[in-house]
Amino acid sequence: MTSTPDAPAVSALSEQFEAAFGSAPDGVWQAPGRVNLIGEHTDYNEGFVLPFAIDKTAKVALRLRGDSQIRLLSTFGAQGLVEADAAALVPGSAKGWTKYPLGVAWALQQRGIEVPGFDLLLDSDVPLGAGLSSSHAIESAVILALNELKEAGLRAEDMVLETQRAENEFVGAPTGIMDQSASLRGSAGHAVFLDCRDQSIQLVPFDAEDAGLVLLVIDTKVSHSHADGGYASRRESCELGAEVLGVSSLRDVGIGDLEEASGLLDETTFRRVRHVVTENDRVLQTVERLTSDGPGHIGLLLDASHASMRDDFEISCPELDLAVDTSRAHGAIGARMTGGGFGGSAIALTPVRHEQEVRDAVVRAFEAAGFTTPDIFTVVPAAGATRLI
Ligand code: ADP
Ligand code: MG
Repeated sequence: MTSTPDAPAVSALSEQFEAAFGSAPDGVWQAPGRVNLIGEHTDYNEGFVLPFAIDKTAKVALRLRGDSQIRLLSTFGAQGLVEADAAALVPGSAKGWTKYPLGVAWALQQRGIEVPGFDLLLDSDVPLGAGLSSSHAIESAVILALNELKEAGLRAEDMVLETQRAENEFVGAPTGIMDQSASLRGSAGHAVFLDCRDQSIQLVPFDAEDAGLVLLVIDTKVSHSHADGGYASRRESCELGAEVLGVSSLRDVGIGDLEEASGLLDETTFRRVRHVVTENDRVLQTVERLTSDGPGHIGLLLDASHASMRDDFEISCPELDLAVDTSRAHGAIGARMTGGGFGGSAIALTPVRHEQEVRDAVVRAFEAAGFTTPDIFTVVPAAGATRLI
């Protein structure tokens, strides 16, 4: 059993589970959302990413059943109790948040692990669709619970692949392995430098406070959906680029190959490829600078990443650009959109002495532009997924 500062909230969740389902849960598991410091749309190109687990989490209270009935309840939203049959899970059939736990159960079954029915209560404070991966927070918590209760013996790397299978094949969102790697393998005080080719990780200290900085998240409230076309079409462009360039993935294209690539690819595909290739390089540079000089020295890399996503990969939107530009104009040392794009959040690495000014300026700029008021909060690297009781 792991002790938690959140103990009263955990017992409350356990009691709520008991009230809803008639008996206590087998346990409560928690998995964090994540913010990506840098390395966007590189994961499915077998490249590099540098996310960290954040101090916002999905908690699931779960109890295995003796039959095949699944009953799902969330403290959030109006979906109410949802029932399913563990023996008849079909990709594409589930609705709302339930596709994430059901997708995990289905993925484990595909792996040959027998998953019986279960009762599950979800409580999450990871903002939805904000680019902080509320979906993988749910999936990571659920797979940790089922792996433990079924004594399936999956390693973190296996759980990463099974939650990817759940999102790709059951939910229908062609996402990579970054989010769940941060959620399952994150560590307090560190960013997770992940090589998506072999899943090797290096924990890189990230202590913004020590450098007199805060990492602000600006949730634009523009909702994105990875199951929609934009993300999938960028993925297709990357596959096309790799095919024409004769490599198995864009990981194998270096900065020095770009000039030749520009003659082989159509203009749009070339810009997509250039984003991925230069972004991989920026991740490596960020890791180097964090290790040698600290967070105060990565600002320009964050800026360059944003420009690349805005101009080459074309996944930003007016709200994200405004959040980034306004933060920079009011004292942030670097800013970029984070997550899959088309909405969600921006991050702004900001000196503590400019924090209030940046917050106020962004809110004012959004108001003047007629955009929805953004939600602005700070994040620090927090622990990865764990069992609470
Ligand atoms: P992201 O993972 O970036 O937050 P997604 O579109 O992948 O965005 O996932 C968001 C979806 O996850 C929501 O539409 C909702 O179905 C589900 N979800 C996440 N957290 C919760 C929650 N606490 N309660 C209910 N549904 C949730
Ligand atoms: Mg998601």
